Amino acid sequence: MMDFSLYDNSAIIKGIAEEMEELILWMASFGKQEQGGVTRLLYSESWRDAQQALALRMEQWGLKVNFDHVGNLFGKLEGTDKNKMAILTGSHVDTVKNGGMYDGALGIVAGMLALKYLKRHYGMPKRNLEVVSLCEEEGSRFPMTYWGSGNITGRRHFGQIVQMTDENGVLFRKAMEKAGFGAGTHRDSRREDIGAFIELHVEQGIVLERKNKTIGIVDSIVGQRRYTFEVTGEANHAGTTPMMWRKDALNGASEMIRFVLHAARKQGEPLVATVGRVEVKPNEANVIPEKVSFTVDVRHPDAAVLSLFCDRFLLEFMKIADEQELLLRTDLWMDAAPVVMDERLRGRIQQICENRNIAWLRMVSGAGHDVQMFQYNCPSALIFVPSHMGISHSPQEYTSPADMAAGVAVLIELLYSLGYQEEEI
Ligand SMILES: [Zn+2]
Repeated sequence: MMDFSLYDNSAIIKGIAEEMEELILWMASFGKQEQGGVTRLLYSESWRDAQQALALRMEQWGLKVNFDHVGNLFGKLEGTDKNKMAILTGSHVDTVKNGGMYDGALGIVAGMLALKYLKRHYGMPKRNLEVVSLCEEEGSRFPMTYWGSGNITGRRHFGQIVQMTDENGVLFRKAMEKAGFGAGTHRDSRREDIGAFIELHVEQGIVLERKNKTIGIVDSIVGQRRYTFEVTGEANHAGTTPMMWRKDALNGASEMIRFVLHAARKQGEPLVATVGRVEVKPNEANVIPEKVSFTVDVRHPDAAVLSLFCDRFLLEFMKIADEQELLLRTDLWMDAAPVVMDERLRGRIQQICENRNIAWLRMVSGAGHDVQMFQYNCPSALIFVPSHMGISHSPQEYTSPADMAAGVAVLIELLYSLGYQEEEI
């Protein structure tokens, strides 16, 4: 534990809150949109401006700065013991189109502020403490997610993007080269010296605010499956075909959709299922639908529960198709396993919150984050601060300065215990 309570010192907390607010607005100036949001797509001009500005600021704050081959930016506070594994904190610098100011950016500037604070008050740490501005997470420009964290952890590599283009036909590798990375070398950026990763992120949901909590301690990130189903029947005249002789694809599909949504509600939290896209062919008022395709997105933190739920509705879908003489095609195009966050780090974060009287909540993340790439390789933790009204990926995204300061205070204490004390990870 730190020798004084940072969180009880209202002047310090107020200072951190103000500085966080300034830093968030400063970050939002890179890629500011007329509609009020922020757009920083991977390797775009605003992305490059943001990374360069962050690098400069890190340097000004006494951090040793470097970029890797894909454009991840690191700011290091060098430890006295070179043999110890580094502790890394940070988040992603890219945004969705016209996204919010806090998603990703918050974790980067909070990490920078934490390191600045620790250096000023405690000098150099025993092991390397680093903040990272990860180049990409959202998959908003290219059909690729976790490009930054995936490269560092060895789960993404150049081979996966060689032919990839954005919606304007620009090659991934050309965009990367134009931004000053990847050219010639095409080396990956895997690191083997990271002992732990901590990500501070906005919740992007309404749970913390509803429950009046300040800090969310994420136990696990949900597993996700995404399916596309195609139901085929027979198109026919809407006036001359008796109801009993129809093969109505929409009739079958709507029964399936009702079933899966009802089953999800019956199953209860934390399972969620969503049918987000439906396409009907020929989609005419006076023609019996011949073909309906629809998506199902299912999420749950327990792989066994997720799998059982999916098996159940798949069986029912087949039954419905059979009974109505419809053809059913199933395409499972995304199957991501749940990721459990490191238990000791979770416990330590909870202890910090309890000691400082910060209202905390153990929770599940319904969205994926960079931290899950790291958890495959090293102990990792995800800390949430509240999102006002649960809004995210929108210009309306908002987290109060006080909540941001609480997140930074917890991060500072955690990094202190990992970097300055002899505690094992
Ligand atoms: Zn994010």
